[in-house]
Amino acid sequence: MTIDHIAVRPGDADYEAARTTKSGTANPSVVLFPTSTDEVAASISHARAEGLPLAIRNGGHNALNFGNIDDGVVIDLSKLAGVEVLGDDRVRIGGGATWGPAAAELGEHGLAISSGDTISVGVAGLTQAGGFGWMLRKHGLALDNLLAAEVVTAAGEVVRASATENADLFWALRGGAGNFGVVTALEFQAQPVATVRYGMIEFALEDLDQLVKGWVETMRVAPDDLTTTLALRPAFGPFPAGAILFVCLASDDTSALEPLRSIGTVVAEDIGERPYAEILEEGPPPQPVLPVVGNTLVESFDESVIHAVTTAYELGGRVVFMRYLGGTFARVDPSATAFAHRSAEAMIISAAFMPEDATEDDRVEARKVWATIGDQGIGSYAGFLGSETPEDIAALWPPATLDRLRRIKQVWDPDNTFRRNFNIVP
Ligand SMILES: Cc1cc2nc3c(=O)[nH]c(=O)nc-3n(C[C@H](O)[C@H](O)[C@H](O)COP(=O)(O)OP(=O)(O)OC[C@H]3O[C@@H](n4cnc5c(N)ncnc54)[C@H](O)[C@@H]3O)c2cc1C
Repeated sequence: MTIDHIAVRPGDADYEAARTTKSGTANPSVVLFPTSTDEVAASISHARAEGLPLAIRNGGHNALNFGNIDDGVVIDLSKLAGVEVLGDDRVRIGGGATWGPAAAELGEHGLAISSGDTISVGVAGLTQAGGFGWMLRKHGLALDNLLAAEVVTAAGEVVRASATENADLFWALRGGAGNFGVVTALEFQAQPVATVRYGMIEFALEDLDQLVKGWVETMRVAPDDLTTTLALRPAFGPFPAGAILFVCLASDDTSALEPLRSIGTVVAEDIGERPYAEILEEGPPPQPVLPVVGNTLVESFDESVIHAVTTAYELGGRVVFMRYLGGTFARVDPSATAFAHRSAEAMIISAAFMPEDATEDDRVEARKVWATIGDQGIGSYAGFLGSETPEDIAALWPPATLDRLRRIKQVWDPDNTFRRNFNIVP
């Protein structure tokens, strides 16, 4: 099959848009927009036949711009974005769909999947990394709700992966971060969710160690219905500095919110009942700054971690997000999926904002500050990883998980056709 009818090349009117993602521009030789699994197979075969490197693009949010490539082939899946309700609350979502439109469509049927927080993030990109969303403690990661996937392999075959079909591939897709083939459709178990109580409580920026400690202790005994993220934000652009607790309660019983109000001095609160699809937001526009981003999964959010977080924040110029985990997320057997860091109590993400002309010394300094937090974790999350050193890759999967992923990669992608990702070398 020729790929000319789905190709956008340099010089074409649409090339500028086709070479631009949320994470930046590149100079691909061709961007292909397949509309069927056959066209995806032809696209892979084109790249292989020409000996060109390949990038697979869904939402285009990967911080290292993995959905884009210089002098290679991009397969952009945006034409495969359908959402279909199958019955028994199972849903099939195209490999090019993004969460905002998918959540809006599911909302029409009184359904939701715990996803991420951002409208334009890709369903397939986020799910293959993990999927930390606003109902994580009630319904687990997005990948915990995946029932099956349709995949076009490096060899151009269309296969289905589920607990009973190509079970090894199914295991690897759930946490393997996009190494195994082009996922053209995902089938999920959605949940009957109409509305949630969502919003924020803002606290005075005082005694931050006590504030974080109070939040951790409250979340340790909170019901699974409650998922929260505590953000320490520096003054940035139009936003003043603040300690903001983002709250999502997937229940009508609001008593779980009460203890949160006494962890610090409340200066503002805005929590209301909203359709799930409406709590997803668009991410911030690209800033003229270079963020040095780190994330880590900590097993115990103890005083030493708390102190590292507040000290780093008080140095200034960085935001810290703390996502409390537990609940359904923690009850999944660590070997059940390729996302194995189930013993983590929390995920901490920090970005230090630096001017574009920051020197390497400035960046080294920012990384040193991050290390005071990051070195206390048991691993990290592919979705928020902004660098790809061997140490970064090693932190994504415990050794036994990585060994198993490697063996599965040898079966499904022995030539490493899919290598523009946090790469598992076969
Ligand atoms: C503003 C913002 C908010 C975020 N919020 C959250 C959040 O709340 N929770 C969370 O867990 N994560 C979150 N993330 C992280 C996000 O999950 C990851 O960056 C994710 O990989 C992005 O997926 P994408 O499809 O948008 O990106 P892309 O860059 O298109 O893809 C990411 C990776 O997946 C591969 N890939 C994508 N689609 C396919 C496919 N169909 N088949 C095979 N491989 C594929 C790509 O090749 C690439 O390696 C956020 C990121 C940003 C930038």
